[in-house]
Amino acid sequence: MVETEVLPAPGPAAEAPSQKPTVELPFYVFWIRVLLVVGPLIGVLTAIGMMWYWGLFGWVELALFVSMYLLTSLGITAGYHRLFTHRSFETYSWMKFIIAAFGGMAAQGTLFEWVAAHRRHHQYSDQEGDPHSPHLAGAGVWGAIKGLWHAHLGWFYVNEYDDLPKYIAYLRRSPSLSVASALFPLWVALGFVIPAVIGGLATMTWLGAFLGFLWGGVMRMFLFHHVTWGINSVCHFWGTQPHKCDDQSRNNFLFGVLAMGEGWHNNHHAFPTSARHGLRWWQIDGSWYFIQLLTLFRLAWNVKLPASESH
Ligand SMILES: [Zn+2]
Ligand SMILES: [Zn+2]
Repeated sequence: MVETEVLPAPGPAAEAPSQKPTVELPFYVFWIRVLLVVGPLIGVLTAIGMMWYWGLFGWVELALFVSMYLLTSLGITAGYHRLFTHRSFETYSWMKFIIAAFGGMAAQGTLFEWVAAHRRHHQYSDQEGDPHSPHLAGAGVWGAIKGLWHAHLGWFYVNEYDDLPKYIAYLRRSPSLSVASALFPLWVALGFVIPAVIGGLATMTWLGAFLGFLWGGVMRMFLFHHVTWGINSVCHFWGTQPHKCDDQSRNNFLFGVLAMGEGWHNNHHAFPTSARHGLRWWQIDGSWYFIQLLTLFRLAWNVKLPASESH
C-alpha cells in the first residue's frame, strides 16, 4: 500500500539520498527535552521508594496510573498516529480536538512536530533521511548500540530537518488542530494536574494529591515514553517480519501489548494506512479495539483496512 494520498510527492529534495538534518535545535528546546527525559526518572524512583518503604500505593494510585496510561497512549496511537498521521479513519472535529489533547498529555511533542517526524520516518524508513532509524550508525556491535540509542532517544538532541512543515500542510489548514497543537504545554500540565486533583479529592489529603501526580502523571508518562520510543528502536530491530518491506520494521509481541497495538510494526509498515495493526486475532491491538468502539457509537467512519493481507 503506497501512501500517495498522505505523503508529499517526492520533489528534488526527496530524491537526494544524502540529505542531512541541518536545523539546529534551540538551546531552550534542548534543555526542555533533557528535563522531560531525566526528570521523570527522579519521580519514578520517588514513587517506587514511597511504595517500597512506606507501602504508599493503593487502588486510587493503580486506577489513576492505568486510566491515564490508557487515555494518553490512545491519544498518541489512535490519535497522533493512526488518525492524524495516516488518516486511517475519520471523525468529528470536536473528537479530533479531544484526541489531540490526550495525545498532548503524553508529552511527546506537539501534534504537528510528532506527525511531521513520523511521516518522514515512513518516507525514508531505515534509509538516509529517516529521523530515527537504528540502522544508520555503522556496522558491528558498536554501530548497533549507537543506532539503538539514536532511534530511542538520541534523535531528540540532534539537528532537525528543514522540510518538516511540508509534511503537515493539510493539518495546518485546520484552525482547531492548529490550536490543539499550539496548546501542547497546557496539555502536558493537565496530564499532571488531573491525576493530582483526583488523587487529592479521592483521599482528601495532600499526600493523595502528590501520589496521584506521581503515579497518574510521572510514572505513566515515563513508561509510555519508553514504550513509544521502543517502537522506533526495538521494533526496527527485534521481532518477526511476515511482510516483505523495504525496511527493518518488525512485529514484536511485548510492544504490541504495551503500545496499544503499535508493536505490530512490520504489519504497519506493510499497510501504513490501515487502522488495524494487529492483523491476526491473537495480535492484541488496543487502538484497533478503541477505533471499533468509536465506530460502534457512530463516532468514527471511513475506517481503512488492508485490501489484502499479502504485500
Ligand atoms: Zn517504523
Ligand atoms: Zn506510521
